[in-house]
Amino acid sequence: KSIIQARNIEKIYSNGCHALKNVSLDINRGEVVVIIGPSGSGKSTFLRTLNQLESISDGSIHIDEVSLTDRKTNINKVREEVGMVFQSFNLFPHKTALGNVVLSPMKVKKKARTVAEQEGRELLKKVGLAERMNNYPSHLSGGQQQRVAIARALAMHPKIMLFDEPTSALDPEMVGEVLDVMKSLASDGMTMVVVTHEMGFAREVADRVVFMEDGELVFEESPERFFSSD
Ligand code: ADP
Ligand code: ADP
Repeated sequence: KSIIQARNIEKIYSNGCHALKNVSLDINRGEVVVIIGPSGSGKSTFLRTLNQLESISDGSIHIDEVSLTDRKTNINKVREEVGMVFQSFNLFPHKTALGNVVLSPMKVKKKARTVAEQEGRELLKKVGLAERMNNYPSHLSGGQQQRVAIARALAMHPKIMLFDEPTSALDPEMVGEVLDVMKSLASDGMTMVVVTHEMGFAREVADRVVFMEDGELVFEESPERFFSSD
């Protein structure tokens, strides 16, 4: 069964903007789906509906067979299972890298500090920041901050990771280090939905490329077909 089932989603913002039009997409466990499309086509809105940062106006979404529109569903629980990384890293400036990573496991999952920190150190190692755990965000490069943000999301042991233009705010020389972390996550079998303009990443890592235009999902293809010249 697909871990993400989005069926006939409509999203109309309160200002009348019709941001998603009959969008349906099924994503399998372990699949990496890259969403591309022009600015304003609904990519970010779609991503945010998948963890209920944005409610939908019509249609249905199931995450690991749990309906997001069912009033009985505990949305906070679903959000724990769907990690998200934004363009702007949004780290707490007064907390170290490790402090940022342990925050939710301690507050939300009630983990003991020692346990959360042990896991946090492992995660920061995994994203290549073993030497930077005690640095504050202001003493980290953009690429390093984004890797902390990824570690922070992973600390909740999500089943799915959403990435909304994770490298768009970075200086070009830092894009690679963030994409490398995402590649290694993909090869670990993480289910990932990635909005990005990085076509190299799409070609190398995506199982499917989905194109959005004017609120509609226009087509989906394997990267082999999408990037072939004919
Ligand atoms: P993309 O991520 O492809 O750039 P968005 O999902 O951000 O597209 O936006 C899709 C459309 O929805 C745009 O027309 C945008 O202006 C509109 N939109 C996005 N967020 C809001 C909001 N909070 N309120 C009203 N309209 C919004
Ligand atoms: P992006 O494409 O990177 O999401 P946008 O400039 O479209 O960036 O949106 C930035 C923020 O403003 C988002 O939180 C989005 O929801 C909100 N937003 C975008 N368009 C509108 C709109 N027409 N009315 C209200 N909020 C909007």
